[in-house]
Amino acid sequence: MATFGTLSDRLADTFKHLRTKGKLSASDVDGTVREIRRALLDADVSLDVVKQFTARVRERALGDEVNKALNPAQQVVQIVNEELVGILGGQQRRLQFAKNPPTVIMLAGLQGAGKTTLAGKLAKHLVKEGHTPILVASDLQRPNAVNQLQVVGGQAGVPVYAPEPGNGVGDPVKVAKDGVAHAARAQHDVVIIDTAGRLGVDAELMKQASNIRKATNPDEVLFVIDAMIGQDAVATAKAFQDGVDFTGVVLSKLDGDARGGAALSVASVTGRPIIFASTGEGLDDFEPFHPDRMASRILD
Ligand code: GDP
Repeated sequence: MATFGTLSDRLADTFKHLRTKGKLSASDVDGTVREIRRALLDADVSLDVVKQFTARVRERALGDEVNKALNPAQQVVQIVNEELVGILGGQQRRLQFAKNPPTVIMLAGLQGAGKTTLAGKLAKHLVKEGHTPILVASDLQRPNAVNQLQVVGGQAGVPVYAPEPGNGVGDPVKVAKDGVAHAARAQHDVVIIDTAGRLGVDAELMKQASNIRKATNPDEVLFVIDAMIGQDAVATAKAFQDGVDFTGVVLSKLDGDARGGAALSVASVTGRPIIFASTGEGLDDFEPFHPDRMASRILD
C-alpha cells in the first residue's frame, strides 16, 4: 500500500531525530508533536482530528509513562502508535450478521467510490466463508450500472437480482425491497444492495438512499469512500452519516497514490468503524481492515 508512504517517511524522520535524545525535555516533546501535526495535516487528515490527536500525544508524552521509561523516545513512538490505532477505530470490527437470515448489507457512497466493485469483492469474500450471497441492482441512475453489477456478479459466481423491464424499472426502492424478499425465498443468507451515487452529495440521492434503508432495514450500511478524495472526505462522510446513518466504512482505492489521511479522519469524525479496505480493481484486492496493522504501516 503506497498510500501512507509520505506520512510514514515524515514520521520516521521525526522519530529518528527523537531517538538521538536521552531524557526528553518539554521542548523535545513539543518539537516532535509539531512535526507530527505538520505531517498529518500534509497528509490531509482533518484539522480537528489532528488537534485532538496531537493534544493527546502531547499530554501523554509529557506524563510519567515517558518520564519513567527506560527509553523515552521509544515510549513516545508507542504512544503515537496507540493513539493512531485509537483514531482508526481501536479493535477490528467484523461484519455483523442477522440472527435470522438473510443478512442485508446496503452499500452507499458517491459515484465512482467503488461500490459496484465492492459488491463483487464482498460477495466473493462471503462465498469463500461459506455464505450464499446475492447482489441486488438498485443503482438505476447510471445506464450501465445494472450491467456492471451483472459482470462482477458473474466474476464472483453469485446471482444478481435486477429489475425486469416493466417490473419496478426506475424505482430503486422497490427493486431493493423485492430483491430482499426474493433472497429470502431463494434462501440466500446475505443480500448485498448496490445503490446509486452522484458525483457530489445531493438531496435527492440522499433521500433515495434513506428510503432504500427504510424499506430494507439493513443489518449493515457500508459507506464506501475513495481514499483519494482528500479534504472532502469529512464533509462527504458527515453528509452520508446524516442521510443514511451508515454502520461502517469501506476505504477504497487504498492502492492508489493518495495521501490517504483524509480517510483516516472519517472513522474519527463519524465514530463509525472502518470494516474493509479495497486495494485494487480485481475482486481479490480486498481485505478486512485492522486498525493496528494500519497504524503499524503508517509508522514503520
Ligand atoms: P461506483 O460508482 O461507486 O459503483 O464505483 P465503481 O465500483 O464503478 O468503481 C469506479 C472505478 O474505480 C472503476 O473503474 C473501478 O474499477 C475502480 N475501483 C474500484 N475500487 C478500486 C480500488 O480499490 N482500487 C482501484 N485502483 N480502483 C478501484
